[in-house]
Amino acid sequence: DIPVICIDGPSASGKGTLASALARRLGYHVLDSGALYRLVGLAAARAGVPTDAAALQDEAVQARLGELARTLPARFDGGRVWLGQEDVTAELRSEEAGAAASRVSAIPAVRAGLLALQRAFRRLPGLVADGRDMGTVVFPDAALKVFLTASARARAQRRHEQLRARNEHASIESLLAELEARDARDRARSVAPLAAAEDALALDNTHQTIEESVETVLGWWAQ
Ligand code: C5P
Repeated sequence: DIPVICIDGPSASGKGTLASALARRLGYHVLDSGALYRLVGLAAARAGVPTDAAALQDEAVQARLGELARTLPARFDGGRVWLGQEDVTAELRSEEAGAAASRVSAIPAVRAGLLALQRAFRRLPGLVADGRDMGTVVFPDAALKVFLTASARARAQRRHEQLRARNEHASIESLLAELEARDARDRARSVAPLAAAEDALALDNTHQTIEESVETVLGWWAQ
């Protein structure tokens, strides 16, 4: 049985940072499932498939998005992300890519289309998987499930700093509104809504450093 640690939670709660730090400490692989949804949004744009709310009502559009997800040419390589031959690392982190990911992620065919790809990341010696439904849908048998949260303001502040480091500017108030809208959408959707698995352990890192969060989870893992 290949061990999996799931880190689920809302946007900008620090899942990616925690997941990669844990993977480094344990020598495990890492799955950034949000990047896959972002890649589907990007693949749709490249293929000329619309992803606005009205278009997403169309069953033919839903089917094409499902097909794009099922055949997604995604590659993760030394911190870079590739869509086919194109290095999309920077574009993937934009607010626009996040919003498109959130829209396409509500389509059942997209979620189903990404299942096999996500599960293929489960390789020896183990995997740390971050997302919204790692513990509830993708790896329900995972040995450890963490539901990571932080206050909305702390999350908006972190997002603000990330963007500033990339020379992008947005007010904390607008980021706060955007995060809360995205989380509300992720919680309200009918397929795989953002929610803690029944057997998840809750971790609120509002007042924790990354190192403290890593030590907390490693402590749980050792038990
Ligand atoms: O985590 P990240 O911000 O990259 O995720 C982008 C969007 O993809 C999320 O807002 C969410 O709507 C969707 N997502 C999802 N299920 C996952 C990971 C991400 O629905 N496992």
